[in-house]
Parts: sequence; structure tokens; C-alpha cells
Amino acid sequence: MNEYIKSLKDQGKLNISIDQNKTFNWDYFKIAGPCSVEGESIIEIAKEMKRCGADALRAGAYKPCTFPITKETNGWMEGLRKEGLELLKVAKEESGLPIVTEVMDASMIDIVGEVADVFQVGTRNFQNYTLLDALGKQDIPVLLKRGTWGTLDEILGAAERILVGGNRNIAICLRGVVGMPSYRHIYPTIRWAPDLMMIPALKEFTNIPIIYDPSHATGYRNFVEPVSKAAMAIGADGLIIESHPNPDMSVSDSAQAIDYKTLKRIFV
Ligand code: PEP
Ligand code: MN
Repeated sequence: MNEYIKSLKDQGKLNISIDQNKTFNWDYFKIAGPCSVEGESIIEIAKEMKRCGADALRAGAYKPCTFPITKETNGWMEGLRKEGLELLKVAKEESGLPIVTEVMDASMIDIVGEVADVFQVGTRNFQNYTLLDALGKQDIPVLLKRGTWGTLDEILGAAERILVGGNRNIAICLRGVVGMPSYRHIYPTIRWAPDLMMIPALKEFTNIPIIYDPSHATGYRNFVEPVSKAAMAIGADGLIIESHPNPDMSVSDSAQAIDYKTLKRIFV
């Protein structure tokens, strides 16, 4: 095991409060919103997320999906992109919520950084070292999602990439991993194993805050609430949850989106 991150834990140097607008604090940090920015609806959704208790709004303007074309008929392809960022800007102004949104590429840091209060690094870029190195050299906080294949040392190594660049404002986001649950034939949208034990396993080595993503851990909305509770009980520092006004109509990840009522219940 690399001693670098461990030594930071020993020195108590991490777990700092992330604070651009005096609203950030990684202590039970609650992030919620739809998988994707779908249009102007994001403005009302943002206000609703705040009413449900969210500390930040999540929504992807740039969306790397397993299949690049999800809705051939309406042309929605991997996000609304620049238009999505513009809408997030308005959602932020009108709701007062900070924005967590994905940056897919080092060349996009400036443009996404005009809106993002936290950069989300998605699963697929977990070991994109060009991106991680670049994120280490700027000061917007980073939510680093675990790759679906990521081992404990690979998670710490990816985090270290950002830390050594000088950016200490990071959190690790755990989500589901490969390793097929045996009940997949009964619950066909479940693609991942939640691997909750990685929360205490990581805590032995680092005090980087850990945000758990029950949506991309379960893939099935009825399991989001119990898995959220389990994650907090086992030591997570916060949650990031996909929620939508009409979950079945979500343009992406509909099977795991939860309604406002359920979200509120989880967040109180
Ligand atoms: C997401 O948060 O919507 C997302 C695409 O997550 P992941 O990168 O974990 O697949
Ligand atoms: Mn999603």
C-alpha cells in the first residue's frame, strides 16, 4: 500500500471543509438531482431538491453513457452539453444550490468549471490520468467516482493523483462494481454489486470524505432508500442520489430514479 495517503491521514490533513460559497461541508453532504439535465425542467427540479434537503444539485450536462445514442428519435445524445451547462447556471442562480456536474475530459475543465462548484469524475474516467492530473492543478473540488472495476489501492492511487497536484478538495464517490448479483434475473436493471464494505475499508487508510451513490449501486429505485441508510450507517460522509419529478420518464437511468417524497424521507 502506498504510504502517501496514509501519512496524510496520520497528519490529519484531509477532511477539510470545501467552501466556495460558505455552503460546503463534506459532513453528511447530500447531493441530489436527475441523472441528466433534460431541459428547462432542471430549474424547478433544483428548487425542489433544495426543499427535499439537498445541499447540492447533481445533473449531467455531458453524459457518457454505455450506449452513446439512447433516444434516436429526439436526438438526445449523451447530454445537452453547452445548453445543459447554461441551464445549470440558471438552476444554480434560482435555487442557490451549488452544482455537481461531470467533466469528461481535461480540455473541458475551463468550460465546465464556469458552472461547476464540484467536478464529478465519472466511473469511466476513474483512471484517466490526464484528467486527474489536470484536476489536481486547479482548485474546484472534485468528486472522484470509483471505476466499476476499481480496487482499494486503485481508488487511493486515483485520489493521490489529484492530491499531489495540490488540490486537497476531494471526495471519493463509491458506486456499484462489477460482480453480478445472483438475483439479476429477477431484477433485470440491477447491473452492479453495491460493495458497501469498501466504506470502512477505505476509512482505515484515508480520511478523504466518502460519498456513496446508491443510485448507481443498485440500478433499481426500490433499493435506493435501504442502501442509502446502510451506507450512512456503515460510515459514509454523504450521499449522491438520482431523483426526478417523474422517475419513469427520466431520459437516462430511469429505473433507479426516485421521486421527491422518497428523497425527502432519505434526507431527513
Ligand atoms: C452519473 O452519475 O449519472 C453517472 C453516469 O455515473 P457513473 O459515472 O458512476 O456511471
Ligand atoms: Mn446516472
